[in-house]
Amino acid sequence: MPTSLRHLARHALALMLHHSGFFALVGFVRRSVLGKREGIILGLHRVLPEEQFARGNSLPGMLLKEETFDSLLEYLRAHYEVKPLDAILERKDKERSPDKPLCTLTFDDGWRDNYTVAYPRLKGFGMPATIFLVTGYLDGYAHVWVERLCQAWKEPSQRELIKCHAMRLFRVKLRVGSLEEIVECLKRLPGEERRSILIQLLPAGTCPNIQQDPDPMMSWEEAVEMSRHGIDFGSHTTTHPLLTFESDDTVESELKNSKARIEERVGKPVWAFAYPNGDWDSRIRKWIERTGYRCAVTTKRGWHESGLDPYSMRRILIHEGNVTGWSGKFSAAAFNFTVAPWR
Ligand SMILES: [Zn+2]
Repeated sequence: MPTSLRHLARHALALMLHHSGFFALVGFVRRSVLGKREGIILGLHRVLPEEQFARGNSLPGMLLKEETFDSLLEYLRAHYEVKPLDAILERKDKERSPDKPLCTLTFDDGWRDNYTVAYPRLKGFGMPATIFLVTGYLDGYAHVWVERLCQAWKEPSQRELIKCHAMRLFRVKLRVGSLEEIVECLKRLPGEERRSILIQLLPAGTCPNIQQDPDPMMSWEEAVEMSRHGIDFGSHTTTHPLLTFESDDTVESELKNSKARIEERVGKPVWAFAYPNGDWDSRIRKWIERTGYRCAVTTKRGWHESGLDPYSMRRILIHEGNVTGWSGKFSAAAFNFTVAPWR
């Protein structure tokens, strides 16, 4: 089914379930009848004003419009208790289930728009959040290669060159040679190998230099300011590798150095981690525990319940496509469908 048709069908189902009271009934049964002590951790990346949203170089699954974010916060204020991550993590089995479910907001990577767009709104609503930083992005030595590739992809001539190279390099894995497919292949390479392939894929002059990046990351000063007003910081590594493809030495330094760097700059203990791309396995989980983190969030869809493993906390990724309806505006039905615990 084409994507737009799928979106139409998905939203029709969401509207039916929402207006029939089904979502509300499921929530009531889970909390009051089954006594579930669960909370939802939402995962966001970027929040952008309309004009930047159209020009941005990030993949659509990372973007939310400023206006949609406003409506999302309004909705959360009315229907959830928005708490910091440790409220969900440390929730005890004995605690009474509140009338409203708990919700925690998280952001990955450390984009500047988290500070310029999301933070003023969170502050206005008095809502806490956790931002998982890639410290090398803030320090200027690691590079947001996906955005660079997306930027080059917009030029038809460069797109053909990238496609041609990628087809040669990944011919077994690529079906149609879409940007998403190429990004997925690149993600699954060790850092060194990916860097050398990117040099071939990206035309001269567009290779990584964070200072010229069109979609910049926040500064340490901005992080410090936010940390004084309800925003917590966790680690998302130093260079954003997919840890399951890296050696023990690399994993250890990514986990230890990013934690130490945030603690040094922000001045608060760092105890939470977000797996890049949500990738983890038992080896990486052990390293997280061994390097002093108390919890780690994944991108495995679902709600977190007290008693579940704190090193594989489920999270629901939120983007413009899964919280808006046919009109392109925030839709409570679409949001409830996206976060439905039974899906
Ligand atoms: Zn990330």
